[in-house]
Amino acid sequence: MARKNNNNHNPVPIKDVLNKLTIEELNIKGKRVFIRADFNVPLDDNLTITDDGRIRSTLPSIDYAIDEGAKVILASHLGRPKGKVDPRFTLAPVAKRLQRLLGKEVIFAPDCIGPHVESIVSKMKEGDVLLLENLRFHPGEERNDEEFAKALAGLADCYVNDAFGAAHRTHASIVGITKFLPAAAGFLMRKEIEYLKGTVHNPVRPFVAILGGAKVSGKIGVLENLVDKVDKVIVGGGMAYTFIKAMGYEVGDSLVETEMLEFAEMIRKKLVKNNVKFYLPVDSVIAQSMEAGAETKLVTTQEIPKGWRALDIGPASVKLFSEALQDAKTIIWNGPMGVFEIDAFSRGTFGIAHSVADAYALTIVGGGDTDLAVHKAGVSDAISFISTGGGASLQLLEGNELPGIAALTDRKEE
Ligand code: AMP
Repeated sequence: MARKNNNNHNPVPIKDVLNKLTIEELNIKGKRVFIRADFNVPLDDNLTITDDGRIRSTLPSIDYAIDEGAKVILASHLGRPKGKVDPRFTLAPVAKRLQRLLGKEVIFAPDCIGPHVESIVSKMKEGDVLLLENLRFHPGEERNDEEFAKALAGLADCYVNDAFGAAHRTHASIVGITKFLPAAAGFLMRKEIEYLKGTVHNPVRPFVAILGGAKVSGKIGVLENLVDKVDKVIVGGGMAYTFIKAMGYEVGDSLVETEMLEFAEMIRKKLVKNNVKFYLPVDSVIAQSMEAGAETKLVTTQEIPKGWRALDIGPASVKLFSEALQDAKTIIWNGPMGVFEIDAFSRGTFGIAHSVADAYALTIVGGGDTDLAVHKAGVSDAISFISTGGGASLQLLEGNELPGIAALTDRKEE
C-alpha cells in the first residue's frame, strides 16, 4: 500500500492547548539563549551514539536560534551519573555528532557552571553554539536546587525548553531556572504538545486508542482520561489478560495484576456505557517461559492452559484490531502487543505497527517501547508523529500538566 504522509497535519492551533510563550515569541536576536535539550541518546561501550534521533529532533530550535544570531548555549542530561562526574556519561560524543549535523563548530564546555564556563560564554559571538557538560554531574540538577538553577540562569538572557522527554521532571534546568529567565517552549516541545495534547483535546473521529505493554497499572491514568474521549479502545500486550481474567476467563499463567481486576472491570463497563467499542485479543501466542527458543502454541484466548502464559497476540487478533482501525481518522498507540523484544513474540506488535502505518489517519505513537517497535518494524516514516518522550508522553495522555511546561512564562492575552 502506498505510504501516506500526514506529517503536515496539525491537530489544533497551539494557542488552544498551550498558554505559554513559544520560541518565536521570545526575542532572542543577539541574546544568550539557554536551550535545554534532551540529548539522552543511547551509547555503545565505545561511547558511539547508536541512535541520534533525539539530537536531530532539536535541530529546528537550534537552527532557528543560530539564524536569529543568538549565542546558543545547549544543555542536557545523559544517563544517571547520580550527581557525580562520570566519564561514561560525558556529552562529548553529542558535541561531535551535533557539529556534524549542524555543519558548524560546536564548542564543548567541560562543565555546565562555574567561572571557566562563564569565561567561555563571555567570548561567544552571535550564531556560536556551545554545549555544556552533563547537567547531572551536579547533584543540584535532580534536586531542583535553587543555587544551581541560578548559576545556570546566570549564563544566559533567556531560556528555551525543548527537552520534552524530561519535561515531567522537576529538575533545576527544567523548572528551577525558569524563576530567573523569560522561558519559552522550543519547536519540538511545541510539536509534542500540539500532537499529544491537541489530538485528545479535539480529535478527528473516529478516534482509536491502542494500549499495550506489560501492566494495567502503568496505563490507569491514560484509560481514565480517554474513557469518555475515544470511539474505540484496543487493548493488547500483557495488560489485556487482567481485563480478560476480570471478565471471568482463565488465562493460565499470563500476567495478571490481581489488584487491578476491579479497576479493569470498572473501565470496561464505563467504555461499554459510553458506547465505546472495546477490543481484546481473541487469540494468543503462548509459551511456558519468556525465552527465545521456548516452545510456542497458538490458542484462542479462552484456552490458555495452566503453566502457559500469553506473550503475544495471535494473527486473528491482529486481523480484528486492524479491521477496527480501517475507518479511524485518529489513532494513538502506546505500548507493544507482546514481548516484541523476542522474535517469537514480536509478530503481533509488528502486525499492528504495519496496520497503524497503513491507516488513512493521523497516527501518533508514544515514545519508549512503542517508538522502538515501529522502528524495528521499519514503518517509522509512515507514522504522522512519534513522541520523543516515554514517561512524558504518557503523562500528557493522562491529561496531566507537566512541570516543565507549567513552569514556562505565560503568554499575555492579545
Ligand atoms: P510498558 O512499559 O508497560 O509499556 O511495557 C512494555 C513491556 O511490556 C515490553 O518490554 C514487553 O516485553 C512487555 N510485554 C508486552 N506484552 C507482554 C505480555 N503478554 N506478557 C509480559 N510482558 C509483556
